[in-house]
Amino acid sequence: MDLVIRNARVRGEKQPVDIVIEGERIKSLGAKVSGTAKSEIDAGGSLVLPGFFNLHFHTDKCLLGEIMRPNVSGTLPEAIEITNDFKRNYDPKEVAARTLRVLETGVKNGTSFFRLFSDVGTIGGLKPAQGLLLAREQFSKYADIQVVAFPQEGIVRDPGAAELMEEAIKQGCDVVGGLPWYEYSDADAREHIDICFEIAKRHDLDIHMLVDDTDDANSRSLEYLAIATMREGYQGRVAASHCGAMAGYNDVYAAKVIDMVATAGITISVNAHINLVCSARLDRQPQRRGIARVKEMLARGVNVVSSQDDVNDPYYPFGKPDPLECASMMAHVAQLTLPPEMEQVMDMITTNSARAARVKDYGIAPGCTANLVVVGAPNVHEALRLQPPRRHVIRKGREIARSKVTEELLSI
Ligand SMILES: [Zn+2]
Repeated sequence: MDLVIRNARVRGEKQPVDIVIEGERIKSLGAKVSGTAKSEIDAGGSLVLPGFFNLHFHTDKCLLGEIMRPNVSGTLPEAIEITNDFKRNYDPKEVAARTLRVLETGVKNGTSFFRLFSDVGTIGGLKPAQGLLLAREQFSKYADIQVVAFPQEGIVRDPGAAELMEEAIKQGCDVVGGLPWYEYSDADAREHIDICFEIAKRHDLDIHMLVDDTDDANSRSLEYLAIATMREGYQGRVAASHCGAMAGYNDVYAAKVIDMVATAGITISVNAHINLVCSARLDRQPQRRGIARVKEMLARGVNVVSSQDDVNDPYYPFGKPDPLECASMMAHVAQLTLPPEMEQVMDMITTNSARAARVKDYGIAPGCTANLVVVGAPNVHEALRLQPPRRHVIRKGREIARSKVTEELLSI
């Protein structure tokens, strides 16, 4: 035995178990395993989960809030505008340095997989992508990282962006991004999606787009994304983030689109934090939440995930980053507050995300890769409520981070 984690609470197991790890994989789970391993961790009855995912994370912009002026209107257009001013002068090394700071925090909070979005367009060129690729190279010991070639200024309305996406992929980006709703017309949005599929198919890459991230209930890019996914045989390889326009769809149209999304096997990433802050700024009252219809999607069997999106940038001024924080926010916004619903929320940052990223051997079972988090709470409910420090983070069978917190009420 290389490592044993003793007295661990694992979802689906009634009693605490010992988790035995050999090399990079879980060998077995059992009650009170005898013998001594090379390394031992006492979970002390804490919940142990497989490593968390953050499938939507703009680290090229992260922490710009420390150096840029605030977003006065709080809207997406102003966020885009003030970031562009800065992006023209990006230096890949500076982008990588900011990225590494938030990746480190993410790993300490138990994240084992990041999907980073790099702006690719005629304003910043390839500098954001080069920064994220550099960070990936430097941080690969600590986490699995994908880099998305993401056309933040659109494709049709930003001539040259498609060619830059191709170049970003040649340099190492491994997911095709998209932002169809940002184009000027529905026809352009459809063309945008078609171009993304052409690029993805040419390089055999998965797709993750930001779709219908607007309060305009007439935004129609999710519907066309589902059509294209089915037409191109890309079921299970496409994710769509935000989709807040769905909140404004009429109920009949929403049911139709959710059904298409389920049939197309599209994962929906709901990034509750940023949409609560950025969406519905033009609403008087009642003010919408700008969140996709999570409960209706879950009921239809859509694969829903929860992701961080931003950390202290012009789009969103907070964020730790911590997948448990995202999950807790999701539970609030989507009103997933019953015990089985809390389990669904936990799936969003674990198993559902693993399915979306097509990660194999994921979970806590014999044969799975030993990427594990000792949470510091006894169950899912308490993990979501407290978001306690992660006591131990294990990657491929090896401890890579730990937290020790001393709290004391002093006698007075
Ligand atoms: Zn985003």
